[in-house]
Amino acid sequence: MDPLAAGIGLGAGRSGRRASRVLAALAVGLAATCLLVERAWAAAPRPDAMPRRMLDEAAAEAAGIRKLAGKHLTLYTDLPPSPDLDEYPAVFDLAFAQWCGYFGQSARQLAAWHVTGFLMRDRQRFEKTRLLPDDLPPFPHGYTRGNEFWLVDQPSAYYRRHLFLHEGTHAFGFSVLGSCGPPWYMEGVAELLATHRWQNGRLELGYLPARRDEVPMWGRVKIVRDAYEAHRAKTLQAILEYDAEAHRENEPYGWCWAAAIFLDRHPRYQKRFRQMVKYIRQPDFTAQFYRLLGRDWNDLAEEWQVFVAELDYGVDVARTAIDFTPGRALPEAGAKITVAADRGWQNSGVRLEAGTAYPLRASGRFQVADQPQPWPCEPNGVSIRYYRGRPLGILLAAVRPDEPTSPSALISPQTVGLGTTLVPKRSGTLFLRINDSNGELADNAGTLVVAVRASAQGDEPDPGDESHRTKATPSSTGAIAASRRGS
Ligand SMILES: [Zn+2]
Repeated sequence: MDPLAAGIGLGAGRSGRRASRVLAALAVGLAATCLLVERAWAAAPRPDAMPRRMLDEAAAEAAGIRKLAGKHLTLYTDLPPSPDLDEYPAVFDLAFAQWCGYFGQSARQLAAWHVTGFLMRDRQRFEKTRLLPDDLPPFPHGYTRGNEFWLVDQPSAYYRRHLFLHEGTHAFGFSVLGSCGPPWYMEGVAELLATHRWQNGRLELGYLPARRDEVPMWGRVKIVRDAYEAHRAKTLQAILEYDAEAHRENEPYGWCWAAAIFLDRHPRYQKRFRQMVKYIRQPDFTAQFYRLLGRDWNDLAEEWQVFVAELDYGVDVARTAIDFTPGRALPEAGAKITVAADRGWQNSGVRLEAGTAYPLRASGRFQVADQPQPWPCEPNGVSIRYYRGRPLGILLAAVRPDEPTSPSALISPQTVGLGTTLVPKRSGTLFLRINDSNGELADNAGTLVVAVRASAQGDEPDPGDESHRTKATPSSTGAIAASRRGS
């Protein structure tokens, strides 16, 4: 059996017949797409078959192109000397050690590895001196072929170095690993590793920017958030299907970065994602990835949706990883659930029945920020700061159906605050979290406690309970009727 179809099929078994038909159809389409893409990239030459071009150094110098030399890089550029630029060979050598570490290669054995880069302000100078060969395809920003790469100068120092590290990652892939993998992996890993911090002589590849001003012109978070707001969010599957033409546009770079950082930092998927490098020369690379994911595919695809919906600078993937284990029936006496303020969606372990009314009461004091001093908060949040339209720190709830829906139920939570009554439309597991950016959870502290029980007939509505007021409107009488039947 096609391992790709097997990977999807296993996941589909849990989502009912209709979903399995949809997935089967997608699997056929996906297999065809991957075949085309993977044939194209699997043809990369082996590193030992890569000839080194002879360059006319005298002509280059006469054209105003200077040469910067490092251990693993020779860089030709027509940009004037500057402290930032003159560090590039040193940055590259530091990056080399990190590429070796990330891709499991021995820096000692690759001591002689060397590539040539061209950083161009005026392309014509490089064309005339043949440093830019005429058989390259047109490219707007950067291009790598074997052990050479070409960059067009960028208006921000950060983004120029980012592009330099992006193409450097490709050069390492082509000339050391023998391939960079299919487009989603090739561009995802290059974006993952090119996103960096360069400070006081220290280089950190795979950095996750905490703020926009750390990475001028980078824009990857913005790409994803704008697309999500415009209802153009990509499923993870659509990203894995990108073909060789997709990256002529800028948007796929944002999606591939997001997929790579999500997979690379997620406690359940990191190991599988990182081991993909061993399949990098195989034409069925993506099928192997589906095979490794196996039964986890459905959970992964759903968690991806939540990750995208909540993406922010500094997102802490491990802190926001979601445990989708189905909850157990709520004991008759109800349950008390502890919710940590410094985590994303938390599984209550409790299963709620469709149509039953469940009053929730929340209590406790916790912290939602620590600057300039600790901010105390209660489950109704703080009114002086809002995050995504709701008070910061306010308690949110969602019931994830036993048969998960798309989009995920966790994307449209209900506000709980100090208390509300949930009447799930479908039976499922209760999830809770406080309202805060997934990039600002680390400075939270403490917990709150949520008491949940099934309402008995004749329960008095809580006067402070928003949901009871809402339910008095004609449009939601169905919910009340359903809850009475269920209790
Ligand atoms: Zn690239």
